[in-house]
Amino acid sequence: MPFQPRDPSARPLCGTPDAAAVKRRALELGADLAGIASAATLNAFPPDPRWPQTPERISPYVKSVVVLVQRIPAGAFRAKTNVPVQYMDMLVLRKMDKVAYRLASELERLGHPAFVVAAQETDWSYKRASYGRLSTRHLGVEAGLGTLGLEVNILTPEFGPRVYLTGILTELELEPDRRITEQVCIGESCSRCLHACPPNAVLHWGIDKRGCATEAQEFGFMTMLQFMERVIDAPAGERAAMLKTRDLFGFWQGLLRVVGSFGDCPRCLAVCPVGNDYHLHLAEQQKHIPEKTPEKVSIQQKFKDDRKSGRELPGLTAWNRRWVGEEGYKGIVARQLHEFKKRQKVSDG
Ligand code: SF4
Ligand code: SF4
Repeated sequence: MPFQPRDPSARPLCGTPDAAAVKRRALELGADLAGIASAATLNAFPPDPRWPQTPERISPYVKSVVVLVQRIPAGAFRAKTNVPVQYMDMLVLRKMDKVAYRLASELERLGHPAFVVAAQETDWSYKRASYGRLSTRHLGVEAGLGTLGLEVNILTPEFGPRVYLTGILTELELEPDRRITEQVCIGESCSRCLHACPPNAVLHWGIDKRGCATEAQEFGFMTMLQFMERVIDAPAGERAAMLKTRDLFGFWQGLLRVVGSFGDCPRCLAVCPVGNDYHLHLAEQQKHIPEKTPEKVSIQQKFKDDRKSGRELPGLTAWNRRWVGEEGYKGIVARQLHEFKKRQKVSDG
C-alpha cells in the first residue's frame, strides 16, 4: 500500500460522537483497523465461563469497547531470524498504546469516562495467571474484525494473524459492529500453522499453551521462576557461576525490551496465508515450511477426519463456534487473492 500522508483536516472528537466518528478517529490517530463491541455482549459471552474475562469484572459502568488493531509490518517476517519480529512487536505495542491512550483521553474530555486495558498483561487470579482481564482476540471477534484460526490467533481478513489488539473501555453507548460469521481461517486443509510450529503446539482449534511457551516465552515468568529455584537449590559455591548464563541475560533483555518474555516465536504468524500483506510480501518467501514433518502431516489428516466425522471438538463446541465462524470456511482467502491479483494486473498494466 503506498504511503498515505495524514489527513490535514483530521480533528479531535467533539460533541457526543457516534460509532462511525470514533472508529474514523482511531484510524486518523494511526490504528490500522477499528471496531466496536458491546459490553453487554462481552459480559454474556465470556470465552471461558469458568474464568470470565468480561468488562463487568473490571468496571460495572462500561457500555462499549472500542477495539483497535495494529498490524506488524510484514518485512520483519522475511528476516533470517526471529529477532526483527520481536523488536517490531515492541514498537507496534508502544504505538498501539499511544493511539488508544489518545482516543480514551478525547472521549473522556467530552464527558464519557474511558480507559485502556493492558493488552499483554495476565492476571494472577485468572487461571493460574494464564489469562488477561480481557481476551483481546475475542474482543476483536466481537467487534467484527476477524475470527479465530486453527491455532486460536485472531485472523483479520486484511493482515491475517500478524496483528496486535487492544481495547478502550468507555461508558459511552456506541453501536456495535456485526461479528463476521464466515470462518476466515481456511482450516484443516491448510494447517500451515501446524506444520510450522516448532514444538508441535497447534491443536485442533486450540493451543497447547505450555508447549507454545517453550518457544514463544523462552524467558517468560515460569522460566524465570524455575531458574531462580535452581539457583536457590544449588550448592553455595556454584551459584556465582550460574548467574553468568544465557538464561539471566535473556531475563535482562526481557525486562529491557520485552524480547523473549512473550511473542518470541513468529512461525504461525509468518506462514498464515490470510491477508494481502501475505500475498504481497510473504507468499514466495514462506511457501516452503522447513519445520513440516510426516508426523505433522498425519496430525493434519487426523484433524480432517475428525472434522468430517462430525465428532465434537473441544475448540468447536456450540459455545466456541461463535468465535471461529458459525458458517464455516466459504473461500474468503481465495476471493481475496483473486481480487489482489486483479488489482496487481491493473497497476502493472
Ligand atoms: S507461537 Fe510458535 S510455538 Fe506458539 S503456536 Fe505459534 S508457531 Fe507454535
Ligand atoms: S495457517 Fe491456515 S490453518 Fe493456520 S490459521 Fe492460517 S489459515 Fe488457518
